[in-house]
Amino acid sequence: DLLVVGSANADLVIGVERRPAPGETVLGSDLAVHPGGKGGNQAVAAARLGARTALLARVGDDAHGRLLLESQREAGVDTGGVLVGGAPTGVALITVDPSGDNSIVVSPGANARLTPDDIRAAADLLAGARVVSAQLEIPLETVAEVARTRPPGARFVLNPSPPAPLPDDVLAACDPLVVNEHEARFVLGASAGPGPEDWARALLALGPQSVVITLGADGALVADGRTDAVARIPSLRVDAVDTTGAGDAFTAALAWRLSLGEDIATAAAFAVRVGAAAVTREGAQASFPTAEEVSAL
Ligand code: ADP
Repeated sequence: DLLVVGSANADLVIGVERRPAPGETVLGSDLAVHPGGKGGNQAVAAARLGARTALLARVGDDAHGRLLLESQREAGVDTGGVLVGGAPTGVALITVDPSGDNSIVVSPGANARLTPDDIRAAADLLAGARVVSAQLEIPLETVAEVARTRPPGARFVLNPSPPAPLPDDVLAACDPLVVNEHEARFVLGASAGPGPEDWARALLALGPQSVVITLGADGALVADGRTDAVARIPSLRVDAVDTTGAGDAFTAALAWRLSLGEDIATAAAFAVRVGAAAVTREGAQASFPTAEEVSAL
């Protein structure tokens, strides 16, 4: 089974002709409310593929929280581990201008209140997981608690997004560390070499058991610390409409296939297909494919 530990947000989206200057008011389109947050996205992506998936997250005791719980249940996610209360549900306030550029303000809300104590209290949920997948839209100390206290049989997958400096023991637990190009450069800092193969080797040297770098339309790159092999995973050529959530769909698919016992290159080859399917449709969770849609690509 797959356990996703992470954020759940309500994305509040308004289209605008132009953004207001300080002190100014502009009128926008009707409000659209979408379920989001990297944790919520990953859980929905995995469940839609057919994975047995549970979510460990925190939402507020409010309408947004109920909406997020409902969308998770509808996708088939086990929400027994979703904690309610302590702060309002996390929200992303998004304005989109006619060129498609986003301006986003995030209020982490309840996501910031998912604590190491919450992880310790969820020991049963962790004990049932073959793979635990986390991101960084919840406190780093909470992610570190997952990495440290997960049972030995539970493989730890981390997408360090938004990127932040990672403690050595968290890095060492990653199997794999999943990064896009931007996150790879952040984690490596000045030591990033010229090409993704160099980044993969440099990232491995920081301690994770394995590394996956996603390369957008160019697919992905897999580096396994056990064999020191670095493999390119080509993507499919698709008509990209909206890349929102592609990384979350990729990581969810990868984590699920690892939980079935696939090797990392085979799991990544499936995940690039899921990522490619996700970019052919608008939205984040709304764009995530079923297993049938992935095989039809
Ligand atoms: P992020 O969304 O985190 O920036 P990427 O852009 O690297 O991550 O995308 C994640 C995965 O989604 C890629 O590895 C690939 O499988 C798929 N993907 C993204 N963009 C495209 C595209 N234009 N064509 C095909 N696949 C894509």
